[in-house]
Amino acid sequence: MKTIFEKSNGTDGINLTEKTDKIDFLPSNLLRQGKVGLPQVSELEVMRHYKELSDRNFCIEKGFYPLGSCTMKYNPKVNEFLSALEGFNIHPNVSDDMAQGSLKLMYNLGEMLLKITGMDGITLQPSAGAHGEMTGMMIIKKYFQTIGQDRKIVIIPDSAHGTNPASAKMAGFDTVEIKSNSKGQVDIEELKKVLNENVAAIMMTNPNTLGIFEEGVKEISELMHKNGSLLYYDGANFNAIMGYTNPKLMGFDVVHLNLHKTFSTPHGGGGPGAGVVCVNEKLKDYLPTPIIDFKDGKYFRNYDIKHSIGSVKDFYGNFSVLVRAYCYILMMGNSLKNVSENAVLNANYLKEKLKKYYDLPYDEPCMHEFVITGEKQKHENGVSTLHIAKALMDSNTHPPTVYFPLIVHEAMMIEPTESEGKEKLDEFVDIMIKIANECKNNPEYILASPHTTPVKKIDEVTAARKPDLNKKD
Ligand SMILES: *Cc1c(COP(=O)(O)O)cnc(C)c1O
Repeated sequence: MKTIFEKSNGTDGINLTEKTDKIDFLPSNLLRQGKVGLPQVSELEVMRHYKELSDRNFCIEKGFYPLGSCTMKYNPKVNEFLSALEGFNIHPNVSDDMAQGSLKLMYNLGEMLLKITGMDGITLQPSAGAHGEMTGMMIIKKYFQTIGQDRKIVIIPDSAHGTNPASAKMAGFDTVEIKSNSKGQVDIEELKKVLNENVAAIMMTNPNTLGIFEEGVKEISELMHKNGSLLYYDGANFNAIMGYTNPKLMGFDVVHLNLHKTFSTPHGGGGPGAGVVCVNEKLKDYLPTPIIDFKDGKYFRNYDIKHSIGSVKDFYGNFSVLVRAYCYILMMGNSLKNVSENAVLNANYLKEKLKKYYDLPYDEPCMHEFVITGEKQKHENGVSTLHIAKALMDSNTHPPTVYFPLIVHEAMMIEPTESEGKEKLDEFVDIMIKIANECKNNPEYILASPHTTPVKKIDEVTAARKPDLNKKD
């Protein structure tokens, strides 16, 4: 595909006015001397160029996107429209008096998320899941400093998302990894071995990244609290439990949610997110400032937080993401519970259908996602999980998350999400069966996949070792 510069054909698509503004206040050495060198193409050609580019992308509006732990579900377009309403486009420096509507929205969103998580205090500032984790770990750090305990260790199960140990380190902790047991859950005996007075917290994901609910969570929280330690809940994928249970009931002290996974902002593409952090009563005094408060009929930014860790993001976080979450929760109302019900039902349906064709390392009921492995295909047919992922692209399907979690070799982590119907799930099952058969009967074809995408097989080793950033295919 030609770049816009190569397409330049001298056809000018713009019509500038004759009027020139006086710019003699600029020093002459800063003024452009020659031509700008912009491509000369007509408006229609520009449109075609960008449409062609966007057609090369895959998105949920094009097809099934079961990218595990990423919740690539359909997000209602009406929330995009609402977050772009002109009234929400206010300058972040306006006074509280002039921003009562926006402050009220943030306050109410906070209250709703506290209901959903069961917790007592909230900050909407962090702009990603990992940012929320770091904020939560900073709160835990400050808490122990304030009560005069210098605890240095954070325990993290081996199935955790990679951001967990990174965030703990960023907040100044050392991490200790513990192994999962044969059911894919935290091994409580292993936990007891590493628990001592130097342990500040455990970071848990429940259901964990294998999609399995941690049945021992109550016992773990009692063990941790008895040891004077705290529990951090990674709630990035909250569509697994929403409305059925909450982290407070499980005994957690700090929780982060990814509004850009569960609450109507698309995840991926590096767009803005919101990794809000909720805490229990004990940790409310440590939240970042300002928090959004309400008193004497007015909403205001409250900077008076006794042990606050300080601000973690300029202004209030990514406001338009907060608007989408607010509208989504209001629109869903009590049916938020159905989100989890459908997410879990869809995942179990796929798991049961696929386990006849691909090995299922942990044959347990799953929550919103599950992990299968391509080990059988690799050993019997020489086709690895990477090839299966590429083959899926030939069937208008985004591959699942592959090679994660690290504790499963040749892992394929599948999250159908709540927004798909049975027809689409059955279609995916048929595609996966076809690929499994092809691995046996015609492995060369799978090994050479993808065959239909605009860019074919990529030499990933050379791309990583000797990247050519100017390469045009
Ligand atoms: C996505 C995810 C994160 C990180 O969220 P980002 O917004 O990408 O930083 C953390 N933990 C889990 C379990 C996740 O799925």
